[in-house]
Amino acid sequence: MRLDKFVSNMGFGSRKEVKGFLKKGAIAVNGNPVKDPGLHVDVQNDEVTLLGEPIIYREFIYLMMHKPQGVISATEDNRDQTVIDLLDDEYRHFEPFPVGRLDKDTEGLLLITNDGKLTHELLSPKKEVPKMYYAHIDGVVTEDDIERFAEGVTLEDGYFTKPGILRILKSAEVSEIELTITEGKFHQVKRMFEAVGKKVVYLKRMSMGPLKLDEGLPLGEYRELTKEELAML
Ligand code: URA
Repeated sequence: MRLDKFVSNMGFGSRKEVKGFLKKGAIAVNGNPVKDPGLHVDVQNDEVTLLGEPIIYREFIYLMMHKPQGVISATEDNRDQTVIDLLDDEYRHFEPFPVGRLDKDTEGLLLITNDGKLTHELLSPKKEVPKMYYAHIDGVVTEDDIERFAEGVTLEDGYFTKPGILRILKSAEVSEIELTITEGKFHQVKRMFEAVGKKVVYLKRMSMGPLKLDEGLPLGEYRELTKEELAML
């Protein structure tokens, strides 16, 4: 990879800024100061330093975001802010994308990465990765709903869902529930409740596979996955 691209991609400034560092002799490759921005570096084996500090190469980033309402799960949008807009430049250089979609008004766990293979594994319908949601439901959720979800329900477009595990936390005029599903159809949780005559009024994803939302993460904030979290995926 070109030296200026490498330094810039690892989050140490724009290509123009990197050229400035090179002119000042601040960048060295294998201990030798370099001025040529086009020098080829072997990202795995050459040691590149900026003001004596090694720049460690990495290909992938893995971020856990506590998605807030009002933000779109996409890389670009003409009208609304996207989850990628919430990231620092340090991460945007990696061209990350959200793993699946949460609706604009849904909060909770969103994994953001540039690892296409992992994304495919988590989203592939064949893998049936469980996703757990916490929701407030306008309507009294009953044992009957638990049974219906356990069998699968027919959505308004005729699609018959895979079974969902419904747990009632509070059965009242506005109920509180947890629902685990292994699919990711458009608006699936909302449409499953519509199928039993009820309306989701608040929705938050709590987990995806083994990855659980870090409740210490404020809404709109994100952090890198820990080694342990990454190893579980
Ligand atoms: N199901 C929905 O209805 N919305 C989401 O954002 C996620 C799951």
